[in-house]
Amino acid sequence: MKKFRCGDLMPGCAVTFTGTEAEVLAAVGAHAHRDHGIADVTPELVDAVRGALVTVG
Ligand SMILES: [Zn+2]
Repeated sequence: MKKFRCGDLMPGCAVTFTGTEAEVLAAVGAHAHRDHGIADVTPELVDAVRGALVTVG
């Protein structure tokens, strides 16, 4: 299982995600669009999210 804290990339955001890497990336994409106005999840953003993932469980 992986965990991602959105605040690591978006200061001030308290949302966290936990799941498989694919689940987390999908959830982050939806969250970024809905809550941060990011329409396009670029490969650079995906890389940044991957780099901020921590292994839990
Ligand atoms: Zn966020």
